[in-house]
Amino acid sequence: MSACEPVLELVSVSRSFGRKRDDRVEAMVEVSLSLCPGEILAVIGPSGSGKTTLANICLGLDRPSSGSVRWRGSDVHAMSRRGMQLAKSENRLVTQDPFGALHPGMTIRRIVEEPLRVSKIPREGWSSAVDLAFTQVGLDQSIYRDLFPHQLSGGQRQRVAIARATVGGPKLIVADEPTSMLDVSVRAGITVLLNEIRQQLPVGILLITHDLGLARYVADRVIVLEKGRVVESGAIKQVFSCPQAQMTKALLGRPTTSDKAM
Ligand code: ADP
Ligand code: MG
Repeated sequence: MSACEPVLELVSVSRSFGRKRDDRVEAMVEVSLSLCPGEILAVIGPSGSGKTTLANICLGLDRPSSGSVRWRGSDVHAMSRRGMQLAKSENRLVTQDPFGALHPGMTIRRIVEEPLRVSKIPREGWSSAVDLAFTQVGLDQSIYRDLFPHQLSGGQRQRVAIARATVGGPKLIVADEPTSMLDVSVRAGITVLLNEIRQQLPVGILLITHDLGLARYVADRVIVLEKGRVVESGAIKQVFSCPQAQMTKALLGRPTTSDKAM
């Protein structure tokens, strides 16, 4: 285990859906992980392997069936309501859909300001926090702040979603497939941006992605999910250059023993 104080820890977290035994789905099975400030942990796995369930659990949007979730050392489900609200304001989500994620009736300045309303930051500080977030994502606030989401391109909207995720200094960002709905031409820009954010802010980023190029470029470590279980984990360079699990090999397009058997 690392020497940092983790922003996020999961200890043996399981989540099942459905009550009856025959329609029960084990979406997560005894998943443990920890994430340090300044670190990017990639999560890869095929469709249905439990990635979005993991994202929801990490952000406190869903409760585990068993196991514990800790934010900066505190057990999420033992927190007071107010403690939970403040902690949630420091944990942010970036979804794959830059079109649906932004309120169409709000200017992008209001959208980026929104997380500050439940934070500890006093109102006088909001304007400079919003300006800084715009600068960090490479959008000139003098041009953009009074526009509405429909006036922006997909790549610009995803930058706004990332500005909303970084405003006011979050501790944890969960990005669930942040580039999957973007044109190939703007993916590289978002990838570089995630890397810059990690260097500028002491934030831990859980990066759920199908985009192995993105994971390879920005992530420090990776966990590989299959049917809700972690089947491999380690430093990204190590895992990508010398994958051990069949699922990792399959995701990386390497020959697997089942291919050889055919
Ligand atoms: P991924 O994001 O990797 O595609 P999900 O976390 O969305 O996977 O889903 C993992 C498994 O859990 C799937 O079999 C899915 O059908 C099931 N699942 C997810 N959410 C629910 C839910 N609310 N009710 C029932 N089953 C669910
Ligand atoms: Mg998903």
